[in-house]
Amino acid sequence: MEWVLVFNALIPVLVVVEDYINSYAISCLAPYLNSLCGYSSMVTALILNLIGGTPVVKLSRIVGRDHADVYVKLEFLNPTGSHKDRIAYYMIKDALDRRLVKEGGCVVEASSGNTAMAVAWVSSLLGLRAILVVNEDASPVKVAAMEALGAKVILSRPEEKRNIAERIAKEEGCVFLNQPGNEANVRAHYETTGPEILKALSDVDAFVMGIGTGGTVCGVGRYLKERLGSKVLIVGVVPKGSVIASPEASSRDVIDGLSSYSVPDIVKRYRDIIDRIVEVGYDEALRTLARVVRYEGILGGPSTGANIHVALKVAKESGKGKKVVTIAPDTILKYPKVLKEIKHLTQ
Ligand code: PMP
Repeated sequence: MEWVLVFNALIPVLVVVEDYINSYAISCLAPYLNSLCGYSSMVTALILNLIGGTPVVKLSRIVGRDHADVYVKLEFLNPTGSHKDRIAYYMIKDALDRRLVKEGGCVVEASSGNTAMAVAWVSSLLGLRAILVVNEDASPVKVAAMEALGAKVILSRPEEKRNIAERIAKEEGCVFLNQPGNEANVRAHYETTGPEILKALSDVDAFVMGIGTGGTVCGVGRYLKERLGSKVLIVGVVPKGSVIASPEASSRDVIDGLSSYSVPDIVKRYRDIIDRIVEVGYDEALRTLARVVRYEGILGGPSTGANIHVALKVAKESGKGKKVVTIAPDTILKYPKVLKEIKHLTQ
């Protein structure tokens, strides 16, 4: 009984301590997160500090001898396993700074899965509620992870998820993050991913990246063009038949995370940053992924296969001595179905 009284008396103190920790988390994070320090020898009390600072690996076995070097930035080593940790943090921090949401408030996002996972994670750490509208065919691993992080998940048809998210945000008084149009998405990659790439490689001849929202290709592309001038080639990758490259196509392939059916607002705003858009079939992406997993030991997801497929083509064109960089946005471990599919491709 006495113990209960002592505990009750301590509650206000615990609340103050927790508030202090939360407000520290919200207001005192390094603006460039882990980008400028790297985390190999770092001990941190704040897991948010582990966003970014991901390693870059040079492909050694699947690149032609007279071709350019190909480098892959391993974004699946972010805490929730994708490059979307960067933008989830940036978009939520931006909403908090602009007082669109307060501690204890709620955020809504529509996503094919990775952004939703990252939003669930950042929200849980910053004391926000997250409601996530996710493609009905999203990887069950991603959906289970969002729920484990405390988010509410609503499954929807891909073409309806944005409208549903917008409606829920209005009804529930939440902020809608809207990644395909949110400038904080581009800024995250302009301020962190781009500088990290240049710090690792000092010079770059081409950057290749799949387009989902276009935030990565436009943010990194803009940074590289400002630093290196127009000599750097920026290549966007889309699924075969994507409306971004082939509005008239009669069928469109689907590669998880890349845009087949809509042109995101970010791509409309920054179209001049992207020099070339290349289409990749689902089968081509998976065949390349199977080789990347087997011979390079990089356990990327399907869009990693698409990115590296195009990076290898650009490396052939560019020739020896040049540097082509691309990204492994997420990991095959999030896609049990794809793990089974690629098994047959290298046998
Ligand atoms: N690959 C995967 C697996 C993704 O989830 C996404 C984003 N949906 C992308 C690539 C494309 O990234 P961005 O949205 O920055 O264009």
